[in-house]
Amino acid sequence: MTTKTYIVEHLDDELGPWSELEYITIAKESNQAGAKFCLSSVPPSLALPQALQEVPGFTAETRSVEIIYAESKSRVCLLDPSAKKELSPEDGEVFDTYLFGGILGDDPPRDRTSELRKKGFEGRRLGPKQMTTDTAVRVTRFVVQDKLPLDEIPYIDYPELRINKNESTEMPFRYVKGSDGQCIMPEGMIELIKKDSEKGFGDLF
Ligand code: SAM
Repeated sequence: MTTKTYIVEHLDDELGPWSELEYITIAKESNQAGAKFCLSSVPPSLALPQALQEVPGFTAETRSVEIIYAESKSRVCLLDPSAKKELSPEDGEVFDTYLFGGILGDDPPRDRTSELRKKGFEGRRLGPKQMTTDTAVRVTRFVVQDKLPLDEIPYIDYPELRINKNESTEMPFRYVKGSDGQCIMPEGMIELIKKDSEKGFGDLF
């Protein structure tokens, strides 16, 4: 099997703490699965966190994905919530590079993945529900590397997170259910959500 590359095109000017935790997790999991992780379109002025840069197999690119893959676009599959076809294990034989939008989830979704769709990459959907970027990469890996069909992956939709003894909040995303029955989330994410929830939820996601 050819080595898979997961590439996240960073679509924001900054890299906030949520994205940082997501990217570190994607980098570590990709490395453990024998795959590569590339963050593309990184503004030259953006200093990437050390914890991300030191994950083996991680690379950062200032070029955008359509420049990097100008001569080999057909190798790249865009994971696109509006695509007509669902990702299947057979797609693992068709593509070796999987492209994701480096954007935080929003509710309702603003379809910023369209910025990548316009570039003409072939798209596949991961089911009808919005996932966080690290979840989308994890699910893609299960499908194309572990050959698990989308509908056999255990999910948790819109989990309720307890912030303190009086408050809880619903996360508007689909997650993968871990072997402990809990959502798989980046290390440190629950603490960050709790901390941010004190600031109000308007611009949280
Ligand atoms: N609200 C977002 C938008 O504006 O498009 C979705 C962003 S989502 C948090 C980040 C990335 O994960 C998307 O750009 C896409 O590549 C991938 N993704 C998330 N859910 C997906 C789904 N159900 N199908 C395909 N890709 C998905």
